[in-house]
Amino acid sequence: MKIIAIGRNYAEHAKELGNLVPDKTVFFMKPETALLKNNLPFYYPNFSKEIHYETEIVIQISKIGKNIAEEFANRYYDKIGIGFDFTARDLQRECKEKALPWEQAKAFDNSAAISKMIDINEYKDINNLNFSLKLNDKIVQKGNTSNMIFSFDKIIAYVSQFVSLKIGDLIYTGTPAGVGEVKIGDKLIAYIEEKEMLKCEIK
Ligand code: MG
Repeated sequence: MKIIAIGRNYAEHAKELGNLVPDKTVFFMKPETALLKNNLPFYYPNFSKEIHYETEIVIQISKIGKNIAEEFANRYYDKIGIGFDFTARDLQRECKEKALPWEQAKAFDNSAAISKMIDINEYKDINNLNFSLKLNDKIVQKGNTSNMIFSFDKIIAYVSQFVSLKIGDLIYTGTPAGVGEVKIGDKLIAYIEEKEMLKCEIK
């Protein structure tokens, strides 16, 4: 399986990092070794001094597809969850300055924390879903999927032009504003609507 992650998909977040709101979907990938499951802790890596959390709604691909039309894209995913796209912001800044790829800042081991995945039919409307992050008992990120610049279906149509989607692939759909640094000892809890979905302690 592979992990596809969307960048700059919420206008307020693009602005907070000084980026333009994109006119095309921005995506990058993480390998399977990036997955951090079962609410396991995240161990602060030696290669960075500035790890950020990014809380993102994640969808799971249920059917093989390539060049998927937007109007049929909803047939290609059946589960939804929430995750953290942990980012070495200091390394990412270096990569951006040199116009280099982002992998070392984004694709490292355990950089993709993931909750249990839930059947999308459990939700009334996945295109109007509230989600949030509590960092040490304070809400620091709040998003709603209706504010995505590119919807789930648009993301699938765009990405599948370049990359075939396979069963089990995960798509991290971008973070809302409010990203920030984690420190050792921090406790992160992510919610979809009111439900606690994902916990992670920074060690
Ligand atoms: Mg992200």
